[in-house]
Amino acid sequence: GFQLTSKDYMEYIKLVYKKIHENREYITDLDAATGDGDHWANIDSGFGKLNEISESLECLSLFEQFKQIGKTMMSVIGGSSGVLYGSAYLAAAKVLKGKEAIGNEELCGVLTAMLDAIMSRGNAQPGWKTMIDSLHPAVECYKACLAENVPEEEILTRVKQAALDGAENTRGMEAVRGRATYQADKGVGHLDPGAVTMSYQIEILMDYIRS
Ligand code: ADP
Ligand code: MG
Ligand code: MG
Repeated sequence: GFQLTSKDYMEYIKLVYKKIHENREYITDLDAATGDGDHWANIDSGFGKLNEISESLECLSLFEQFKQIGKTMMSVIGGSSGVLYGSAYLAAAKVLKGKEAIGNEELCGVLTAMLDAIMSRGNAQPGWKTMIDSLHPAVECYKACLAENVPEEEILTRVKQAALDGAENTRGMEAVRGRATYQADKGVGHLDPGAVTMSYQIEILMDYIRS
């Protein structure tokens, strides 16, 4: 089984920054179609800051590191996603208290804590065309895999696919919260930008563990 240290986690964060930074136009266009067009700028500034301070974060315990990531996201990222990612990381930190590495069970616990925090902070449910619609199916898939003793390689493949499919499924969803609700079509026909950037993170995490 894998064991992710706080140093590994910052390597992963740097890969996320790279992926997000490279997709400026795509993510900006998605948020321009359903929202106010700033999602890329918001999320890029958050991960950019984490990338910048990665050396000081990689030597912290996982608990302290996740707290710092949460605080950084809250203060750097404007918009809904800052508060939501901030809450997610602060909640996940608690799961990691006293732990030196993240194994399979812990990672499922981390993602579950993030999902619960985002749903309660944003007061939103699965199916409402948000970032939840990538994270929720990934978490459900992860829990089911652990319960069925699915081999690790297969878990990574399935969780990644669940996150990517979840983001793709937002295309058909009507927005219930956020700016897309102001539009006549409630965003139907467009992917939710927050679900897409969430799926990037889960995809990169699963690929990082595999490598
Ligand atoms: P803002 O909407 O304030 O401009 P961003 O553009 O950075 O912030 O983020 C928009 C994304 O945040 C949406 O695409 C959606 O995925 C997510 N989002 C917005 N509101 C909520 C909410 N209440 N719960 C969960 N996710 C949300
Ligand atoms: Mg926006
Ligand atoms: Mg905004």
